[in-house]
Amino acid sequence: MAKLLDGKKVSTKIKHDIQEKIHGLDNLAQRAPHLSVVQVGLDPASEIYVSAKIRDCEEVGMVADRIRLAPSISEEEVISKIEGLNRDEDIDGVIVQLPLPPHLSKNRILNAISPEKDVDGLHSLNFGKLGTHMQGFIPATPLGILELFKAYQIETKGQHVVVVGRSHLVGLAMSILLSRGDNPGDATVTLTHRYTRNLGRHTQTADIIVTAVGKPGLITGDMVKEGVVVVDVGIVRVSDKSRPSGYVLRGDADFESLQSKASYITPVPGGVGPMTRAALLQNTLQAAEQGVYKTNSSDA
Ligand code: NAP
Repeated sequence: MAKLLDGKKVSTKIKHDIQEKIHGLDNLAQRAPHLSVVQVGLDPASEIYVSAKIRDCEEVGMVADRIRLAPSISEEEVISKIEGLNRDEDIDGVIVQLPLPPHLSKNRILNAISPEKDVDGLHSLNFGKLGTHMQGFIPATPLGILELFKAYQIETKGQHVVVVGRSHLVGLAMSILLSRGDNPGDATVTLTHRYTRNLGRHTQTADIIVTAVGKPGLITGDMVKEGVVVVDVGIVRVSDKSRPSGYVLRGDADFESLQSKASYITPVPGGVGPMTRAALLQNTLQAAEQGVYKTNSSDA
């Protein structure tokens, strides 16, 4: 029977450590780390995610604010708002909640964020640093998964990892990180997507599967070998009239058929989600520390 990779438990410990560090940092910087979240439009899921990010920041002693922009706003106006946040020395991290309304260019807007404040790690410069193994910001979901591997001492060196889904935000970044010469890393990685023929042929040879698609039940027990580690990033609301909320959250992994074959598996919810949120806090703290060190060295 698979053991759970308990993201809730590991993230609570990470958040506690961040909170302790912030007390120390606060003395140095004379202020708490500060995250600004830009939210364009009225997407209901974004509303929930942004509120959760703000709550997380406040819980560990950071300052967070939400900048709401109208759904009809022009690209130039969004960029000008971001440039204002870049110039504000009291702000350490800036993120833009995705998805954006279709008339806005995601790449142009993400690249308007100063790379030093890009705590979601989606600016091209930070993504390039990720590929060339230089110090930069790593997107929160893959960073959170690396932390989960460390916490449960999941060995990735020499293992065959199959990543399902190739989004910039999750699958592509994960595949690069796990193939780098690092720990966790040093894996042989297969990156799959919607045009991959016979997905099961690949997943059956995997020691570790990281799935980030958003299709409930995509990965089933007959598609994996005994002892596989399954990390399920997918989160989809599936209608369930028996619940007061009217829905249940489902991942890509068919938990029932996988739990008797896998050695470890992440639950949904309570697996990757809380780790992603903790990793955003880690990145914001990193941005604040880098700002403090910069100030200190220029003062010296
Ligand atoms: P996305 O941008 O829509 O990417 C989905 C990827 O899945 C695409 O690369 C797509 O391939 C691939 N795909 C679609 N059908 C497939 C199939 N049948 N077999 C293999 N690959 C297939 O989504 P995302 O932002 O990466 O998010 C994926 C899921 O993770 C969503 O459910 C999202 O809500 C969730 N998520 C969770 C967290 C968390 O913290 N837990 C964080 C981020 C995302 P193509 O490139 O060919 O289209």
